[in-house]
Amino acid sequence: MPAQTLGQSVPFWRSLQSKFILSYGAIVIALLIFLNTYPILISQNLVFQSKKDSLWRQADIITSTLAGAGGLTPEGVEGNLNQLGVTAKLGVAGVDRVLVTDPGGLVLYDTSEVDNARDRYALLWEVVSALRGNDVFRSEFREKAFHSWAAAPIIYRGMTQGAVYLYECDSSQAEVLLDFQKNLRNVSLVVCVLALPLSVLFSTAVTRRIAVLLRGIRTVREGEYSHRVSVSGRDELSRLANEFNELTGRLQVTEEVRRRFVSDASHELKTPLASIRLLSDSILQTKHIDSETVQEFVADIGSEAERLTRITEKLLTLTRMDTAPPQNLTPVDLKAVVLRAEHMLSPLARAGNVQLKLNLAEQCLVLATQDDLYQVAFNLMENAVKYNLPGGSVMVKLSLRRGRGREERDRVVLLVEDTGMGIPEEDMPKIFDRFYRVDKARSRAAGGTGLGLSIVRDTVRQHGGSVEVRRRVPEGTCFQVEFPRWQEGRKGGRP
Ligand code: ADP
Repeated sequence: MPAQTLGQSVPFWRSLQSKFILSYGAIVIALLIFLNTYPILISQNLVFQSKKDSLWRQADIITSTLAGAGGLTPEGVEGNLNQLGVTAKLGVAGVDRVLVTDPGGLVLYDTSEVDNARDRYALLWEVVSALRGNDVFRSEFREKAFHSWAAAPIIYRGMTQGAVYLYECDSSQAEVLLDFQKNLRNVSLVVCVLALPLSVLFSTAVTRRIAVLLRGIRTVREGEYSHRVSVSGRDELSRLANEFNELTGRLQVTEEVRRRFVSDASHELKTPLASIRLLSDSILQTKHIDSETVQEFVADIGSEAERLTRITEKLLTLTRMDTAPPQNLTPVDLKAVVLRAEHMLSPLARAGNVQLKLNLAEQCLVLATQDDLYQVAFNLMENAVKYNLPGGSVMVKLSLRRGRGREERDRVVLLVEDTGMGIPEEDMPKIFDRFYRVDKARSRAAGGTGLGLSIVRDTVRQHGGSVEVRRRVPEGTCFQVEFPRWQEGRKGGRP
């Protein structure tokens, strides 16, 4: 079953699933090898150790019985061993062969029936080593039995009088061990048989969830931003899916905003262009047109062109703000900026019979550029004049608000209130959107573009401030802008 990547399918041998299966397989095999060897080796060693102890104990008893002043003779050895309970047929308890030699290696006594070495020289290295004064033990597991050999010198007053050689073949313990080995092998087989389908099942479950995620990513990549993935569980994969959904949600919003912006912008640019086209066509197509009408049409063309310029300039300002962080910031006194805006707006206010009232505090310094702050103050004050009523007024108040505690910085607060027509409650959340206008016709008539408040909001945010709009009681609108106040010695201008 091929797993899918973003573009093409991954061959099975390179897929996550095969890697999972391989790694589970490797772990299971390593565990089984360990299970099948380690306990067996330990048990073997335990048996060897117990054999060593018992054979040496036997050898010790025999050597201390045989050691004596008179030296070793075949009859003496046999007599002594008979007393110990060693019989020629059965040997000593549990021991299959007992062999005794003189100091030269000549066999004086041997219980073996098959290759009895009596009266011959024992050519066994264990005997040779024992005659040199060493205790010897050797054991091995072969042909379904434990074979153990032990040899010890017979020493009397520092003299080696001969050697005792014992051999034991134990198949009963070997049988137990072989049974144990067989059981372990059977258990391993069952584990293998179970582990393989289980690892396939588990890896399929994991990779299937990854495949869901991959499919989701591909769908979103193809432009379907409304697509959401659903991955079950509460592990990292489901969290990844949630993060992905969150990201897609944001992408969807951004994409919608972008689309709306492009369509709004083209629509806004199309309207004045259509007017220009219409006016110029009228001039060209009307025969004997009088110069007064031409003058009038050309003036209209001029004002439409001006409108186009205003829109493009504002669009450029917004794009610049989207792409570049503010630069060349200096502490700017907002009071001077508001006064400049008032100066520029007084002809418009006079024409609309609107009174501008200012109440400006000193030392309202903000880390920004003159132009940015001017944009904010001018746009808000211009709106307050534009959307006012004859005889109305605009109140601009600039004040300082002390920060509470050491952590909170002082704020510069700019209030622009008017006694105008107000903004309906339902439009308030949207008026900062690009191209949004409550009353399109009035905005257009007043030379508005629907971009002023977007520029205000973006500029204020860029400088760490905030802007709010609320209804003014009893009538009109109130915009409140706050900036962190620039203070000597405090780093930066942002909170
Ligand atoms: P415009 O260029 O149309 O003025 P803005 O972005 O500055 O665009 O304002 C968006 C809309 O918000 C305006 O078209 C107007 O309908 C409304 N508006 C803004 N300020 C005021 C105000 N002080 N009083 C009433 N309406 C306002």
